[in-house]
Amino acid sequence: MIGAPGAGKGVYAQYFKDKYCIPHISTGDIFRGEIAAGTELGLKIKPYVEQGLLVPDEIVIEVIKKRIQQPDAQKGFILDGFPRTLNQARALDEITVIDAAIHFRVSEDIAVRRLSGRMICPVCGRIYNIYYEPKPKNDEQCDYDGAKLVRRRDDEPDVVRQRYRVFYETFKPVLDYYKGSKRLIEVNADKSIGEIVPLLERILIEDNILTLKPCREVTL
Ligand code: AMP
Repeated sequence: MIGAPGAGKGVYAQYFKDKYCIPHISTGDIFRGEIAAGTELGLKIKPYVEQGLLVPDEIVIEVIKKRIQQPDAQKGFILDGFPRTLNQARALDEITVIDAAIHFRVSEDIAVRRLSGRMICPVCGRIYNIYYEPKPKNDEQCDYDGAKLVRRRDDEPDVVRQRYRVFYETFKPVLDYYKGSKRLIEVNADKSIGEIVPLLERILIEDNILTLKPCREVTL
């Protein structure tokens, strides 16, 4: 799942993870975890992440390579926020098989508004929004574990605009790459979750991309 910050790819990845029990691998989440834990990797990538700049390809590729070798990813996985550059897309095809690249295309102003309302559970990683669905049911607490929701530092409007601009500067060749190999699915991510999810499921199932059966009921 690829798209600019604010496209909602994390929310869709979470939905598919919950419903189909497919691991959701987000490079952004991995990086934030490393920074919070103060690891050597975390210290190296912190300046990039905090300024909304791309972490160098060789670091990101190494991290993804290790993660998709884990036992839980052997039957498939959803990548969220990776690849973001042509080098990353090519490297990914050398280490695994990618069935589809779903591009969530969002306009800049909608991205900025969405991200300024985004709240994240620091315990389970679920994403909510105070302006849009999924809103947390109870104040600013996680519906699942009751943890106090937090806002990301790089969700400040000026950093969001910087992240959005950086994203599309490097991203066009990635789109062309997946289009060229007929794996690109384009989704208008300005629409609501309720409109996008059924559409996306239909495409994935009809094109035989999603062969797994649901493992639980998930409400939108
Ligand atoms: P995200 O949560 O996907 O918006 O990612 C947050 C930040 O992590 C980005 O602004 C980048 O600094 C870094 N990052 C995440 N994924 C990648 C990637 N595939 N390539 C380079 N940097 C990344």
